[in-house]
Amino acid sequence: MEVLGLFFFWFILAAAADWIASDKGRSGCGFQLFALLLPLIALIVALALTPDRDHLNEKAIKRGKKSRCPACREAIDPEATICPFCRSDIVRPPSELSASFRLGKRLSRK
Ligand SMILES: [Zn+2]
Repeated sequence: MEVLGLFFFWFILAAAADWIASDKGRSGCGFQLFALLLPLIALIVALALTPDRDHLNEKAIKRGKKSRCPACREAIDPEATICPFCRSDIVRPPSELSASFRLGKRLSRK
């Protein structure tokens, strides 16, 4: 029974290490294997890792939570009208504006 408890604790540590690394955009098959083999060390490494900003920005862009500035290509808020990095005006294409206008109209009816 104690062996089962030890495996459960081992798995929880590995899962926690993988979850923390994934939250920082640093997860992958290699890190999952590392976490399964040495969960305590992987947990310490995951806590010490710095977030992978580029990877997290790419994920946010795919989910629609951020968009790219047309001038400097930095990830910015999709509602921004001025880029916080290069200070250029963000001009949205007419199709995007009409889509958000229609969505806003549909939401205001409810
Ligand atoms: Zn910019």
